[in-house]
Amino acid sequence: MDERGLRQADLVRLAAADGVKLGKSQLSQYLSGKTEPRKATLSFLATALGVSAAWLSGEAEDAGPAPAASALVTPSASAAVPDHSPAPHDPTKKGEPAMPRRQFKKSSKLDNVLYDIRGPVLDEAYRMEDQGIHVLKLNIGNPAPFGFRTPDEVVKDMQDQLTECEGYSNSRGLFSARKAIMQYDQLKGIPNVDVEDIYTGNGASELIQIAMNAFMDVGDEILVPSPDYPLWTACATLAGSTAVHYICDEQANWYPDVEDIKSKVTPRTKGIVVINPNNPTGALYPREVLQEIVDVARENQLVIFADEIYDRLVMDGKQHVSIASLAPDLFCVTFNGLSKSHMVAGYRIGWMSLSGNKSIAKDLIDGINMLSNMRLCSNVPAQSIVQTCLGGIQRGQGLLVPGGRIFEQREYVYERLSNMDGVTVTKPEAAFYIFPRLDPDKFHITDDDQFALDLLKDKHVLITAGKGFNWKKPGYFRIVYLPRRHTLHEAMDKVEDFLSYYRQ
Ligand code: PLP
Repeated sequence: MDERGLRQADLVRLAAADGVKLGKSQLSQYLSGKTEPRKATLSFLATALGVSAAWLSGEAEDAGPAPAASALVTPSASAAVPDHSPAPHDPTKKGEPAMPRRQFKKSSKLDNVLYDIRGPVLDEAYRMEDQGIHVLKLNIGNPAPFGFRTPDEVVKDMQDQLTECEGYSNSRGLFSARKAIMQYDQLKGIPNVDVEDIYTGNGASELIQIAMNAFMDVGDEILVPSPDYPLWTACATLAGSTAVHYICDEQANWYPDVEDIKSKVTPRTKGIVVINPNNPTGALYPREVLQEIVDVARENQLVIFADEIYDRLVMDGKQHVSIASLAPDLFCVTFNGLSKSHMVAGYRIGWMSLSGNKSIAKDLIDGINMLSNMRLCSNVPAQSIVQTCLGGIQRGQGLLVPGGRIFEQREYVYERLSNMDGVTVTKPEAAFYIFPRLDPDKFHITDDDQFALDLLKDKHVLITAGKGFNWKKPGYFRIVYLPRRHTLHEAMDKVEDFLSYYRQ
């Protein structure tokens, strides 16, 4: 800026003239290195300063070719381009030897880790929002922004207990919370769960990571559903092991294909993940399917990891069956939490319960304890509401019956998608996701991400592509039907119109 004779105010003014959103405080943050500009802002700044964007962001050592005077922007309409010709950036200016700039790369452990729910398409949505474009977001299962409120009683109880939650708790969690979870597990028929077998976490997410790190070694394999909630595959991969995907069968209500599971067991397989109710399909598995999975796990001595975070979001009068209740002789770890059932995703509270045959997993439990102790404890104020949430009348159930928001929104989205030409869809029975398929003969989708990006750019509707759920067949996507009916109406109109002309 000095070399170009530009002051902060000049850049802010130039940005405004160029239609780029850039405030003074924003610019100060970039200058102090506190934050980095987004791509569009970076590109504006590079042009304004006559340097390469790569140099400006620290990715290249060379400032780039000196720009032609005509390429340089003037600091203001009245001031001319400074008369000194722009010198390229000179790191040896103060007579110091040139030091190559050190670049910091992410760990190679992350090379195969995928978590597209918050991936590049979302980044593009944020960029669009930065430009003032309103994006209809049907991409994240976060109830609060869609007007789902935490019950008042829950907020009040946390408030009242805040002063008692200032210290670390027991690393597994508060006794009252774990006792309530234990009783909940008892009601679900999960056998042999003691207070000491329950670990609270900053969401189930933290515990999924802990479990995978404690259990999986390099070379080990774990069976994970496809499509899956991608955190499972990501955590298994990060732990150094291999997630082997078994198919959930669209033709069979998206239930796990047990023959496929059997065919994928190898001597290296140590466990199986069952996500029920499922994200992204919204499927609820019947007892018979769960029983068959237990039989495979029993035959092959596998540990069962059951992600049941949506077990209180079941519709159509169906009952959720905990797979651990069918496997008293196996070692099972069941994951659950309040993020979805009590609309407190931001409070961060989840748990895992060890059940069944714990004697075969003593060493693994030592590992879990070690990792649990290392993170000291989970967020204590959020633990303080577990008892309130799990006991008494479950008011959230009213959302899941005719007239309730989640039920009615599911009906609406399902109807609309079913009536779209070239779209097939299975009616979800739980959670708040739906996973439609686009006819390959009509749409020829080969690149899911491109589809998501094109829909976003054309219609300002944000969905998550099937690939983001480790689903290999292109042409699938997940819709979160949490927004209110009028928003869903607008979104469905846009999707329908987009599909009337979009082909790949
Ligand atoms: N498991 C599944 C299947 C999910 O869909 C989610 C969140 O979307 C989680 C676990 C994580 O939930 P949390 O960390 O909020 O408890």
